Amino acid sequence: MKPLQMVDTKTQYQKIKTEVDAAVIAVMESSQFIGGKVVSDFATNLAAYHKSRHVIPCANGTDALQIAMMALGIKAGDEVITPSFTYIATVEVAALLGIKPIFVEVDPKTFCIDANAIEKAITPKTKAIVPVHLYGHAADMEPIMAIARKHNLFVIEDNAQAIGNDYTFSDGSIKKTGTIGDIGCTSFYPSKNLGAFGDGGAITTEDDALAEKLRMIASHGQKVRYYHDVVGCNSRLDAMQAAILDIKLKHLDEYIAARIKAADFYDAAFAGNEKITVPFRAANNKHVFHQYTLLLEGVDRDALHQFLADNGVPSMIYYPVPAHRQKMFDAFGGSSYVLPTTDWLTERVISLPIHTELEEEQQQFIVAKVLEFVNN
Ligand SMILES: *Cc1c(COP(=O)(O)O)cnc(C)c1O
Repeated sequence: MKPLQMVDTKTQYQKIKTEVDAAVIAVMESSQFIGGKVVSDFATNLAAYHKSRHVIPCANGTDALQIAMMALGIKAGDEVITPSFTYIATVEVAALLGIKPIFVEVDPKTFCIDANAIEKAITPKTKAIVPVHLYGHAADMEPIMAIARKHNLFVIEDNAQAIGNDYTFSDGSIKKTGTIGDIGCTSFYPSKNLGAFGDGGAITTEDDALAEKLRMIASHGQKVRYYHDVVGCNSRLDAMQAAILDIKLKHLDEYIAARIKAADFYDAAFAGNEKITVPFRAANNKHVFHQYTLLLEGVDRDALHQFLADNGVPSMIYYPVPAHRQKMFDAFGGSSYVLPTTDWLTERVISLPIHTELEEEQQQFIVAKVLEFVNN
C-alpha cells in the first residue's frame, strides 16, 4: 500500500506531467510571466466553466476576499456577518480593513452559516454577508440571498473549498457556488480542489461595473497604466500558475467525481456506527468534498487523532480554534460571543484523507483504524 497522505498532489501531477511540463516550458520560452494571453485564456475558461460573466484572477484566495470587500466599498466601522467556524482568512481580511466581523452560528449538519441566525445579527452598520462553503458543501444560498435582498446587503461567497459545487434553487434552476452572491472568491492553493503549483486565486461576478472595479483594485487602482484612480493593491495570478490551472480545469469535474467516490466509500463503511456521523449532503447541492469530515460523539477525538498518526494515518482538525476565540479578534470583542454549536463542532470534528488519487486499499486501511479505535 502506498503511504497515506491528506492530499496526493504528486501522483495527480504524474498523470498530466507531459502536458503540464510543456505548458510551463512554453511560458518560460515566451518570457511573458505576468499577465498576457495564458492568464486571460484561463480566466475565460474558468468563466465558461462557472457560466459566469467575469473572472478576475488574483494572487490568492485571501486577496480575493479583501479585494471583494474593497470593491463593494465596505470600509472601517462597517460590519460583515460571517461564520466563526471557518478558516481565518474569511474574517482576517475584514479585520485588516477595519471592518468588524460579526460572528454567527453554523448549521450543525452542514457546518455552514445558519441562515436563521443571520437576521438577528443585522445592525445599521451591516454591509455584507460572507457565507463560507465549508469543506465543499454549499451554504444554503437561497434563504441567504432573500435576507440580503430584504435588508439591502451584499453577499460575498467564500468559495475557496467548493469550486465546482452545483447549488439547486427551489425553482429547479442550478448555479455554481461562487456565482450566486454579488461576488464569489476562490483559492488555488495547492491542496484545494483546483490547486496550482503555488499560490493563486480568483474573483467571480456577474456585474460589469463591479468587475471593472475588482480588476482595478487588484491592479494598483489603475485602469489605464500609471493612472491610479482608487487605492488598490497588487494581486496577480502569474502565467505559469495560469498555464497549469488551465490544464487542471479540464480535469476538475473528474477530480470532483473521484472525491465523491471516495466519500461514498467512507460513508458506506461508517454507516450505522452510532458514534460517527458522516458528512451531511443537502439535496440542493453537490458536495465536492474538499474535506471528508466526521462528527464524533462519545469518542476522545484528540486521542483518535493521535492513534491514527501512530498508525500512519494522517488526519486533521479543521479548525481547532473557531475565529471568535482567536486572540486576533480580542479587539473586536471575539471572546464575548456565545456560539455553542461552533464550540461543539470544534471539539468533535476530524477530517480524514480525501483526494483524487485515494485507492480502495488505502481507504480500507483508514476505515479499519478509525473503527478499531472508535469501537474499543
Ligand atoms: C484556503 C481558504 C482561503 C484562503 O485562500 P488562500 O489562497 O490560502 O489565501 C479562504 N477561505 C477558505 C475557506 C479557505 O479554505
